[in-house]
Amino acid sequence: MSVTAIKGFNDILPRESGRWHHIEQAARRVFELNGFSEIRVPIMEKTELFSRSIGDATDIVEKEMYTFTDKGGNSVTLRPEGTAGVMRAFIEHKLHAQDPVARLYYLGPMFRYERPQKGRYRQFHQIGAEITGVHDPLADAQVLNMLVGFFREIGLDEPHLQINSLGCPDCRPVYRAALLEFLEGRLDQLCEDCRRRYSTNPLRILDCKVPRCIEATAGAPSVLDYLCAGCNEHFTGVRGYLESTGTPYAVNPRMVRGLDYYTRTTFEMVTGLLGSQSAVAAGGRYDGLISQLGGPSIPGIGFAMGLERVALLLGDQEFSHRPDLFIATLGGGERSFAFRLMHDLLSQGARVEMDYDGKSLKSQMRRADKLGARFSLVIGENEVTSGKAAVKRMEDGTQSEVPLVADAILKAIR
Ligand code: ATP
Ligand code: MG
Repeated sequence: MSVTAIKGFNDILPRESGRWHHIEQAARRVFELNGFSEIRVPIMEKTELFSRSIGDATDIVEKEMYTFTDKGGNSVTLRPEGTAGVMRAFIEHKLHAQDPVARLYYLGPMFRYERPQKGRYRQFHQIGAEITGVHDPLADAQVLNMLVGFFREIGLDEPHLQINSLGCPDCRPVYRAALLEFLEGRLDQLCEDCRRRYSTNPLRILDCKVPRCIEATAGAPSVLDYLCAGCNEHFTGVRGYLESTGTPYAVNPRMVRGLDYYTRTTFEMVTGLLGSQSAVAAGGRYDGLISQLGGPSIPGIGFAMGLERVALLLGDQEFSHRPDLFIATLGGGERSFAFRLMHDLLSQGARVEMDYDGKSLKSQMRRADKLGARFSLVIGENEVTSGKAAVKRMEDGTQSEVPLVADAILKAIR
């Protein structure tokens, strides 16, 4: 039996990779326009990096990490998300010493041991961005506008932005206590995971996707009613900036995130088109994370989006590259002439193909059609002698006679 891929690990085949490039290129364009630079960090880190940053009582650390002991006896983990590694590198290379305001983006595979389904895989890909060193809500709003701008750039009007504030170490405990009090009488209505979360991480109960948990928590107190003055003012600031740029958003006071390091602003880009995989991108502010990882006490904010989910939203749109021109030949003698012409055109940046095996004209033209070539050109003995040939526009069959030199052909197919 032949060997297959690991469950939940996908191949991205040539017919899909055009769509991936479209997404990645748009992200690079939009992020770089906003002053962000790419940082590339390893896909494997010491396990403690993730348990210290993401939090021990989160789904990711409790049950989703690919953790194993390497041959040297060290516990290592395939990264389940990008922020921890990026901030580890930020601290390790003292990037904050050059400028505490760093704007970084990253792109690559992440690994979580989850139940594979549409939009949820064990190896998946994220593009994420982070700004460090800014307390002002302006940074939150810029990150949000950049994210919304990215979806506009790739031509999607789903997903929609939802925002919330999770408060800070001053006000969140007060909210947590109020939530615990509310949940106390409803424990028997919750799923098993949520009963456990009640003592480890009660805010996460609001994020549970089990219908009876959603029902049981319908009347739960809102975190927004418990924000301290500082957090309240900050959240009002974020909203004000978003409104000043006409960025559409909705406030969702039930939105909590699956990572413990978030403070104040949290957000998701949500869609109704992917079932329970509704979050296409998500993020928030993490004012305590950098110091928690042994770095200076500076704030940060960022997001990550799931490429597979963005690709699903884009659907089957065609992003593959069609040849500009297909050169067919009538006999063996013309093949080297055509090959040289193809070479000249390729070196001038035209996408040109010819048949590899010297098949019949009919089958060559079938191939031109299949490849979606925009133009075709047939070269026989007569054409070589006269130095001219008819360039045919495949769409409507119109033909024009051109000299068989690269410049003239380029002009005819542009
Ligand atoms: P979900 O609630 O769907 O599990 P999450 O809160 O775990 O998402 P984050 O950790 O915030 O997600 O990751 C950010 C984005 O990465 C998500 O919005 C999603 O697009 C994508 N993502 C997360 N986990 C997966 C996965 N297992 N497969 C594919 N994409 C994923
Ligand atoms: Mg998850």
